Amino acid sequence: MIVMKFGGSSVANGERIRQVTEIVRTELKRKPALVLSAMGDTTDHLLESAEIAMQTGEVSIEKIAGLHIKTLRELALSPEVQTAIDPLLEELRNLLVGVSLMKELSNRTKDYLVSFGERLSVRIAGAYFTAQGLPAKAMDAWDAGFISDSNFSSAELLKESWDRIPRILNPLLDEGVLPVITGFIAKDGNGKITTLGRGGSDRSATIIAAACKAEEAQVWKDVDGILTADPRIVPAAKPVEAVTYEEAAELAYFGAQVLHPWAMRPCMKTNTPVLVKNSYNPKAPGTRIFSARPETSQPVLAITSRRNVTLIDIVSTRMVGQSGFLEKVFAVFAKHGVSVDMVATSEVSISVSLDSSYDLAPLLPALTEIALVEVKTGRAIVTIIGNVRRSSEILQRAFSVCQQNNIAVQMVSQGASKVNMSFIVSDFQAAEAVKNLHREFFI
Ligand code: ASP
Ligand code: MG
Repeated sequence: MIVMKFGGSSVANGERIRQVTEIVRTELKRKPALVLSAMGDTTDHLLESAEIAMQTGEVSIEKIAGLHIKTLRELALSPEVQTAIDPLLEELRNLLVGVSLMKELSNRTKDYLVSFGERLSVRIAGAYFTAQGLPAKAMDAWDAGFISDSNFSSAELLKESWDRIPRILNPLLDEGVLPVITGFIAKDGNGKITTLGRGGSDRSATIIAAACKAEEAQVWKDVDGILTADPRIVPAAKPVEAVTYEEAAELAYFGAQVLHPWAMRPCMKTNTPVLVKNSYNPKAPGTRIFSARPETSQPVLAITSRRNVTLIDIVSTRMVGQSGFLEKVFAVFAKHGVSVDMVATSEVSISVSLDSSYDLAPLLPALTEIALVEVKTGRAIVTIIGNVRRSSEILQRAFSVCQQNNIAVQMVSQGASKVNMSFIVSDFQAAEAVKNLHREFFI
């Protein structure tokens, strides 16, 4: 079997759902199980409607009902389909009334709220597939074996899901059924709806693929795969044909927004290949992610940047050789729940980079107790994912590019992952750095 996951933009309207039907049809022989996101920006709209209900007491599901009913019409679906989704819209309205009265929106309520997006999309798309002669069966994730812990808004699946998912899906696939499953959501042991976190339906797909020992997990997006750089910065960026799980995870972490760093995890464990494809351009080969890829002549695979980074230089006030300095510094970050991206150390100093969204106020006093601290805002991390066995060549070329373009490199680190070389530049020079590095390594 294979898993095919279609994201929000791939099922954003009737036209897109038609396109998806054609894509699925070409793969029917491979026994696909489908995973769908909510249509378009429905998840955001659901959260907005709850915010409005809470702030103003006004309950409106117009935007959400409007999109879904319009899509039913575009797809010329029978009135029974609307009858099937009306109770969901009614339930959503009641929930929003509750939010408007209670004026509170816990993570648990939020998960229940956003679940309507995926539940609506699988019912509409499933009905259309059926109307087009595909043997579809719309399923809520909990009916497909997804049981999670009660960590609302970022739930993890319970171990038993791994047996339940194939036990439910395999017989269906063997009968020739096309399961169309909600991504993103699950239920906990008490029957409460949970979500796997924003963007979580990629993970739903890779979980099913791993649990069912799929031949492949296809993740359909609106770009031609993982690109050599962000196309908004480098219009000439090209899709990368193949990357390892490790490379894909590093790329995701350091700014390529195609896949969430966690999304590949389940498939990495079982060695299931993940194929990133473009539903707007199905002919494009896409990017294949697997454990070993053929060596290419290119030393560099892709260049990413992560904007709005803060750099902190921490210099020990004690003498050289003081033991436990690193431990003390990192204990402060850990205590404040701050995740550090890049680190460079000497015996008496540490430089770390972190996302500028962290509030440093509670953390700095603790750091200044043990060290001299300098905070530098307005930085960016530029990351080169490439063959680290050629790191001398890559770094030498990268530095000369920076030098020629008057881009000051303020910190360098080569990740232990062996695939990433990162450096810090001023944020206003980040795009310039990516453009010039891309020209150096790819043009
Ligand atoms: N619909 C959810 C979101 O927008 C899950 C997903 O699309 O992966 O975050
Ligand atoms: Mg979405």
